[in-house]
Formats: sequence, structure tokens, C-alpha cells
Amino acid sequence: MIIVLKPGISRKQETTILKEIRKRGYKPHVMRGVARIVIGAIGDELTHQSLETLGAVFPQIVESVMPVQRRYKLISREAHPQNSTVRVREHSIGGKKFHVMAGPCSVESEKQLLTTAEAVRAAGATVLRGGAFKPRTSPYEFQGLGQKGLKLLAKARKETGLAVITELLSENHAELVAEYADIIQIGARNAHNFQLLIAAAKTGKPVLLKRGLSMKIEEWLLAGEYVLSNENSNLMFCERGIRTFETYTRNTLDLAAIPIIKQESHCPIVIDPSQGAGRADLVKAMCKGAVAMGADALLIEVHPNPAEAWSDGTQQLSLAVFAELMQELRPLILAVGRE
Ligand code: PEP
Ligand code: MN
Repeated sequence: MIIVLKPGISRKQETTILKEIRKRGYKPHVMRGVARIVIGAIGDELTHQSLETLGAVFPQIVESVMPVQRRYKLISREAHPQNSTVRVREHSIGGKKFHVMAGPCSVESEKQLLTTAEAVRAAGATVLRGGAFKPRTSPYEFQGLGQKGLKLLAKARKETGLAVITELLSENHAELVAEYADIIQIGARNAHNFQLLIAAAKTGKPVLLKRGLSMKIEEWLLAGEYVLSNENSNLMFCERGIRTFETYTRNTLDLAAIPIIKQESHCPIVIDPSQGAGRADLVKAMCKGAVAMGADALLIEVHPNPAEAWSDGTQQLSLAVFAELMQELRPLILAVGRE
């Protein structure tokens, strides 16, 4: 930590701070400038009381306290300069090949899921999405088919060869969901649920971590750190829009998150334009923007009959529009040097 002291403090005040830093288990190194004193404090924050509170405890003496290193360690590019790739069955996400994960918001029936799975596979998707446990705003809305939905996802995988991504809502279901899923999705509402992140990590399955509804990128990276620090390096971040004042879209898709996640971390970044827009008519354009900005994959909601969907009907693409989108993406994917 770097501790900057206020200008014009007395010797006695300096001694007070140095004593406090040592008391908390750190070794202070004093740098005397013309107007101010700057202290470098060396020590391990995992095993000692943090120095962050020095400013609040000694407001007359301390001007600011700044970390020297990023707060995330395993996620950071400094720790791992090359891009990581995440192995999902025979696929590798985050490498040269661009991936599209597609399927319904919720698994509703065998016919709905198998029809969608066949269509998205034929159009070029490699992963089938579908919620079996659904995080709904109201308890009176469809909550998902639960294990029955997981079984249908496994059936669709068997028939199409697609890998499966599905959401884990509760620690109690970690083993159950891991039995069926190739990728465990942690939804926006649970991005701050650290015990759930640890439970997901411990299954050993790849984890896709959505950005929380009002999560700063640093908080998102730190949430990801919970996965990596629990012996699971197969993490993907997924930007799905954040809450803003804007009402023309359901959320505001933060495309700047793509180059930022790439700069700060080595993990793949996936874009979900469906939750981002909340409107099917915007999804194509948002997918194109995501490819151009360097995303590694897309997560898109697709339904055989969006108007009759049991959840998120306004934002799901029809099978035909999804097939069109995949054609339109092809030249863009090649133009950014991907396959
Ligand atoms: C979803 O993918 O259907 C979903 C609920 O996503 P999010 O957690 O991003 O809202
Ligand atoms: Mn949805």
C-alpha cells in the first residue's frame, strides 16, 4: 500500500502513523518529498488487518491510501500474460475460433428445446443454452422445469452434439447441475453470491460469470477471482448489460467491457446481447458490435416461437432470424482474424 500524508504534519503525527502501520503488521518505508511524506507499507493483506481504514481513522494525518497491485491476482494479465482458453467438450473458447452459444431463455418442453437445438446447430452454434432453474423477478412467474429441464438439455446434447450451458441458482443444486451441464452459468443476480461462486468452482466445470446488474468491472473481476482461487481456472466473463437510466433498452450493454476485460484479465469474454437489449430487433447489431470489439463468443436467446415464450419473449430471436444473423456474422468474424 502507498500512504500519502497531508502536507505540514508534525513529527509526532508521523510517528503515530508509523507506529500504527507497524502495529498492523506492515513494514513502513518513508519517502520525504518537498511538501509531503509518502509511506510505502510492505506486508501481506491476507494475513494482516487492511491499511485501507487509515484515512478514516487518522483524517488529520492521512490524505490517501492506494494499493500498489491490482486487488485481483490470479485473474490479472500480470499473473498470466497469454490469453486463457476454456475447454468445453471438444471446443476451446477464447482461442482463434469464435463461438456462438444459443438457445431458449428457458427450457419449456422437449419439442421446443430439440427444435431449437437442431436449428442453432445447423446455423453454426456450438453450445446450447437453456435455463432449467430460472431467476425470475416475481415468484408468480415461470421458475423453470428444474431437473426435468436438465434432462431435456442432456437429451438435446446427445441428439445434436452441442455442448450445454445452464444456470446454477443455488449451492444446493451445484452437484445436480454439474452432472448435466458442460458450462455452469452464474447469472447477473448472483454475481455477488460468493458462496455460490465457490460451489460452482468446486464442481470443476467451466464457469460463465455474468456481470451483476450494477457491478463495477473491478467487482466483477474480483468475483471471478473467487472461481480461480478455488482451483478452477476455466472461467469466462459475460457482459449482459448493466442498469442505467436508459429505458429504450432493458439494460445498457457495456461494450467497453470487452477491451477492458482483455486488458485486465486473461479470461475469455462473452457477450449476451439478449438480456442487454431486451429487444429482438437490436440483437443483430449488438452481436456485430461485439465481434468487432474482440469478444470471444456470443450467448444469444433463440426460440421457435418467441411470442409464446414462457420467459423473455421480447428479446428472443426466431430460428430464421438467428440463421440470418449467423450468415451476417461470418465475414465479420473472418475480418477480425477469427474463424
Ligand atoms: C438468462 O440468461 O436467461 C438470464 C437470466 O440472464 P441474466 O442473469 O444475465 O439476467
Ligand atoms: Mn433470459
